[in-house]
Amino acid sequence: MHSSIRHPVGAKLVDGRAISLSIQDQVSEGVSALRDRGVEAHLAVVIAGDDPASHVYVRNKEKACHRCGIKSTRIDLPPTSELPAILGVVEQLNSDETVHGILVQSPAPEGVDELQISSSILPEKDVDGFHPVNLGRLVQGDSGGLLPCTPSGVMRILELSEASLSGAKAVVIGRSRIVGMPMAMMLSQKGVDATVTIAHSKSRGMSQICKEADILVSAVGVPHIVKREWIKPGAFVVDVGISRVEDGLAGDVAPNVAEVAGWLTPVPGGVGPMTIAMLMSNTLRAAEMLNP
Ligand code: NAP
Repeated sequence: MHSSIRHPVGAKLVDGRAISLSIQDQVSEGVSALRDRGVEAHLAVVIAGDDPASHVYVRNKEKACHRCGIKSTRIDLPPTSELPAILGVVEQLNSDETVHGILVQSPAPEGVDELQISSSILPEKDVDGFHPVNLGRLVQGDSGGLLPCTPSGVMRILELSEASLSGAKAVVIGRSRIVGMPMAMMLSQKGVDATVTIAHSKSRGMSQICKEADILVSAVGVPHIVKREWIKPGAFVVDVGISRVEDGLAGDVAPNVAEVAGWLTPVPGGVGPMTIAMLMSNTLRAAEMLNP
């Protein structure tokens, strides 16, 4: 593992920022190689909601594009936009041959169905990996499509940390379309071979379920919901959750989990930067696949 520091108490902390930067360096090389062939990798980001956090995320994505040499175009729509207006913009971007990746920042304006937006993006340009074709390929055991960025980032962390996955017991808390469910699919796919349990808000006996986990991925969004007592000693704990609290950001995992876990991803600085790195990587892949 090339990027970890030992927590003073026990767990090794995964340095997601350092890993993210090294992935972005690799993406930059691929982007230059494409440029040498006359292709400028190009990501279009559509933002329609008025959520302040979305604006921060979009700015971070623009910065990462700049770092990787990817052209980024931002399309700001009014927060009152309705589905037809958003679909109209996506349609234009789908047919624009100079655009390789399209992302519509979540959350969409109130009342707008995000599933319909995801389904309207060409699967080849779906750098968020949420199109039913890309998620369907994953369910069929085909990981050659564009995969959702956050669970892909978690997989990259586990691989680089040389976590032992084959036959391991993994628990994923959360079953959302964008994190929990694809995460469970990736961990259980052939070749990775973890035995996966999916837990959610109706699960009973969370502490017992989690205590079995060699790998525990939490994607809930409730600060410090994962307790020290739930952790198998030495487990690899991945904290996807991000919640805004009075004094900044908090993950799902209680800080004293570090006393028991073998590995832990911090919040901030763990999974968050990996999501952006995987978005850059997906944009490069999309540009390469559209320009074979
Ligand atoms: P989501 O759609 O709200 O899903 C949350 C999941 O947690 C649901 O499946 C829900 O169960 C489950 N859950 C809620 N309360 C629970 C409880 N008490 N016990 C067990 N499970 C519970 O959220 P999401 O979009 O997947 O995101 C999850 C978290 O990850 C959020 O904090 C989000 O900000 C963060 N996130 C971070 C990144 C990153 O880059 N680091 C990227 C995406 C998301 P039900 O299905 O039963 O409702």
